[in-house]
Parts: sequence; C-alpha cells; structure tokens
Amino acid sequence: DAVQSDDPSVDRNGFKGHDMLAPFTAGWQASDLDPLVIEKSEGSYVYDINGKKYLDSLAGLWCTALGGSEPRLVAAATKQLNTLPFYHSFWNRTTKPSLDLAKELVEMFTASKMKKVFFTNSGSEANDTQVKLVWYYNNALGRPNKKKIIARSKSYHGSTLISASLSGLPALHQKFDLPTPFVLHTDCPHYWRFHLPGETEEQFSTRLATNLENLIIKEGPETIGAFIAEPVMGAGGVIPPPAGYFEKIQAVVKKYDILFIADEVICAFGRIGYMFGCDKYNIKPDLVSVAKALSSAYMPIGAVLVSPEVADVISSQSDKLGVFSHGFTYSGHPVSCAVALEALKIYRERNIVEQVNSVAPRFQDGLKAFSSSPIIGEIRGTGLILATEFANNKSRDTPFPPEWGVGAYFGAQCQKNGMLVRISGDIIMMSPPFIITSGEVDEVCFPSASGSSPVT
Ligand code: PLP
Repeated sequence: DAVQSDDPSVDRNGFKGHDMLAPFTAGWQASDLDPLVIEKSEGSYVYDINGKKYLDSLAGLWCTALGGSEPRLVAAATKQLNTLPFYHSFWNRTTKPSLDLAKELVEMFTASKMKKVFFTNSGSEANDTQVKLVWYYNNALGRPNKKKIIARSKSYHGSTLISASLSGLPALHQKFDLPTPFVLHTDCPHYWRFHLPGETEEQFSTRLATNLENLIIKEGPETIGAFIAEPVMGAGGVIPPPAGYFEKIQAVVKKYDILFIADEVICAFGRIGYMFGCDKYNIKPDLVSVAKALSSAYMPIGAVLVSPEVADVISSQSDKLGVFSHGFTYSGHPVSCAVALEALKIYRERNIVEQVNSVAPRFQDGLKAFSSSPIIGEIRGTGLILATEFANNKSRDTPFPPEWGVGAYFGAQCQKNGMLVRISGDIIMMSPPFIITSGEVDEVCFPSASGSSPVT
C-alpha cells in the first residue's frame, strides 16, 4: 500500500517537491523523490513518520554511539541549556564545560602525548583546522614552504573546501574544482583490491610505504607539512589497514619531519574495540581529529588534539605570531561540551570498549559467514564497523556493471525489511551503535532465525 511503499516516486509522506537541498543527495532533483523522513529514535532503532521501525545499523552517520534514547545525554543538555545555553570561547573568555572537556580529552588520549584541544562543530572543521595549524606551525618555525598535505586515495575527511580536498574520493572533487593544489594523494591501503599477484599484506604495506617515500622525495620533503590518515578508512569503503602498514608509513613520515594527523572522527571512543584507532594500530600522531561519538551525536561537536611539540612551538612564538585568528562562534559550545562530557563519562562507567568487544565477534563473524557467496567479493571490518563489497564471481576484476545497481538493490532490500545501511556503489557499510545487543546483532546477521524479516 502507499504508506508502506519503498518506491521513491510514491509520495508516502507528502514531502515530494520539498524545499531542502539535501547533503550528498542527487542534486536539485532530489526534491522530486520521496524522502525517508525519520521522526523518532529508541536505542538502536529509528522510526519514520509512518511509524515504520528500522534497525539503524549505521548509527545515524557512524555517530549515535549510545543509540537514540540515552536520557543522561538529554539531561546533560537540558541542565546546561537551563544554566547557560551559550557563551563563546573567543578573546580569553570561555565556559567551564569547554575547559573541562579539553582537560578530559588530553587525559584520555594516550597513544601519544597531547597537550591542547581546539573545538569545532564537526569533523570537517576539525580537519580544516588541522591544515591551518600545520601551516601556522611551520610559519612559526620559519619554514614557509613546508605546507603540502599528503592524504590517501579513498579517504574521507569531510566536505568543506580543505577537508574535501584531503578526501580521496573523486565525487567530492569533480564539478567543484577540487582538490586544491597543496593536497597530494598517495595509495589507498586496500589489500584485496590493490595487492599484486602473490604479494603478502606485509609486502603490500612495504610497497605502499616506498611509494609514499618516493612521492615525498619527488615533491621535496621541505615542502611536505603533514600526512593525514583514518586508522580504519570509513566512507571510502571500510578499509582496515593491512599488516605492518602504519608501522612502515609512520617510519617514512617521521624520517622527513612530517606531522602525522590521525583522523579519528569515526574510530574514536570504541568503534573498533579500542578507545582510539591509534591504540589499536600503534599510531603515535602529532595531531588528532575527533567528532561524531564525542557527543554520541546528540549535539554537534568536533575537536583537534595537539601534541606538546606543536603546541609549544606555537605558544613560544606567540609574540611573533600574534593572535591565533581562527575559530568558530560555536567553538566549545557549552551545551555540546556538556553533552560530550556526559558521553565520555558514560563510556568510562559502562566500559564501552568492553561492551563493543563483547558483541563485535558476533557481528563480524555473523556477516563474514556470507563471504563464500559467489556475488560477494569481500566482507571486511573490525569491531563494530564492516563493509560488504559485491563482485561478480568473487573477483575484484569483475565488478558488476554499475547500471545493474547491485549495491543499491541490496541497500533498498535492507531498508524495505527494516534496516538502514550505507550504500556506496556496490559496497554496503554498517557501523551500528556501541550499545547494540547481541539479539539486535542477530537481527542483522541471521534475520530469519531472529524472527525479523529476511534481508538477504
Ligand atoms: N573525517 C572522517 C573520517 C569522517 O568519516 C567524517 C564524516 O563522516 C568527517 C571527517 C567529516 O565529519 P563531519 O561530517 O562532522 O564534518
């Protein structure tokens, strides 16, 4: 019937022809389609305005770590709204929640030492801030040429001008005249897709590190300011690093005095079974970006963590540099910071990393059991993040014709049967809330056995 139809040409909700230009949605014509309008959330589930229930297996956009109905986060926001809904952090004026959250983040991140925190509203702004910090730092050191940033093909770092340039996804560049010239891209570390015949993961990682070194030498090490990487690539297709990758890459980056920026926007706070992605892969960054699970997405917030080396150069040169003229009206917004402080408290009290690790094997093994299917090329992931990549006869060399829309078909089937996933070409991605129960994991992996409608 019309209400239950998943055909986008049907006007289920009365919102066809709506007025919003939606992000990452097909251009202006999107308003001609019938949007899925979400109205309510409860734990790991969301409901649309017709009352249909969906398992939110992407946690919003990889972000609602504590699910959709955590009363403590609502209470923290309400308390702060009733006390001080807003004050800024410019000109040496600030608020206590922002100071407390900065302290908390510095203490929490232990993969390498951090000293200062700069607040933003989002992951994109955090990564833009990173680039400006790298430039500011190198200007402070009298190295005005050390400004290029190396990112990786298939990475996702956001959609502002700089963060979209850093991202290694052509769709973010085409038609926008990006990337900007100071950004270079090196190899994507996707072993399944890019390894040479007979090459082991270690050998693949060595080759990528050599390619990175060659790029640095070609450009001139004195022109490269920073290297940026997600510990596990997210939007580019959920790509955990191959064996030895970060060890080899870090050695190259360090050799040429290049700063390492860890983009932890998806990985941080438990997603991959460690508090930070850097903990799992022994990454020792100079700069870290966080957002998303920082507030479990109840309020927008991002942050940049800065090592003592970088912070000390900037502060010791402050006479010369003057005011750090960068920031946003809502940098350190007190309500966002109060919610983030409560989220971090909950992660600690409930031992969220252990909770993720208690359900992750069921999630990973349950879905990887489908790997033998002839239409599945690879199922990959770690902790509570996973992607299924479809390929004809399991081979990376025989993708399905794009016009078949295989990924879109399976994504639509999931939605029809009450589960929301992310689709990108022939890849389906999932990153459920950290609070997902093993029963809910079974709904994802074994839908018929768990009594819910089949999705496979
Ligand atoms: N960095 C990574 C790794 C991300 O996955 C994202 C968003 O998905 C961003 C940065 C951008 O964050 P935002 O959408 O909050 O600007």
